[in-house]
Amino acid sequence: MKIVIALGGNALQKPGSQDFNTYKTTVAQTAHQLAGLIISGHRLTITHGNGPQVGDIFLQQEISAKQVTPRPLYVCGAESQGQIGYMLQSALQCELAKRGSSVPVVTVISQVVVDKNDPAFKNPTKPIGAFYSPRSVPKLKTKGWVLSKTDKKYRRVVPSPRPLEIVEVDAINTLMETCVVITCGGGGIPVIREDDELIGVEGVIDKDLCGALLAIKLNVDLFMILTDVDGVYLNYGKPDAKKLDVLTISDANRFLSEEQFPPGSMGPKIEACIQFVQETRRTAVIASLENVVSASEGVAGTTILLG
Ligand code: ADP
Ligand code: MG
Repeated sequence: MKIVIALGGNALQKPGSQDFNTYKTTVAQTAHQLAGLIISGHRLTITHGNGPQVGDIFLQQEISAKQVTPRPLYVCGAESQGQIGYMLQSALQCELAKRGSSVPVVTVISQVVVDKNDPAFKNPTKPIGAFYSPRSVPKLKTKGWVLSKTDKKYRRVVPSPRPLEIVEVDAINTLMETCVVITCGGGGIPVIREDDELIGVEGVIDKDLCGALLAIKLNVDLFMILTDVDGVYLNYGKPDAKKLDVLTISDANRFLSEEQFPPGSMGPKIEACIQFVQETRRTAVIASLENVVSASEGVAGTTILLG
């Protein structure tokens, strides 16, 4: 099968962990799980989140701003694609070599076109980077930042526009015939089209929505979202929580409107699966990374299908 996998943040860096060796070990464990699918002959394109990594790059820039001019957020996004791509590419190459496989693994830096009139640009919602004290707010506002308050701290929020087009998709499609491809990290580098130019914009595209677009454009058989829960639950976190083995898109739409799936976590995953299933009439799966092989066979996680 041709499969697009969207990896959650936990597959790369454990929450709160800054240590490089822990980061490396986490990525190696992820590569170990994914190699199982590659060895069984599936062709993968992998996309991934970048929250903690791009947050760190952004913070490093802020700290050293007097010596080196900070780069725009979309350049930090590109840096994070390179960094995470390298980490995962290297870990997968090592894992595949151990198992006697010589399937090449490559990373493609990718730009994703968004609409400059996307309403998200007027309503930034995606928190990024460090937490700041109320004292630093006036200075931060002079940089043009929009800040949002959580508890007593402030954080920068940026727009999260919808992904419309993956610029490098034809190259990714060709590479996927013979290689494992890592691409569209962090939802891709957001750009707008102006005549012949692609111009980077400040924002963060949701990685699950970008993953769905990638899966549709690559015309894959299966779209998998791997995260830190074993599937989709009704009444998640409550005493009567219930895991769903199968979820039809009509039920998914109903549960979305009943606010079963929060906008910052499960909501975009469900929306991404609905888009893929509706467009391709194939199935999508939301599962935990540990269960990736059985989830690809439809026996773990939550399968989202037409109906
Ligand atoms: P990722 O980093 O993998 O993209 P997120 O943290 O954004 O993951 O989303 C996964 C989280 O969604 C789970 O850890 C869980 O806490 C939360 N969640 C919210 N609602 C649900 C639900 N209905 N079913 C399962 N998980 C849910
Ligand atoms: Mg997360």
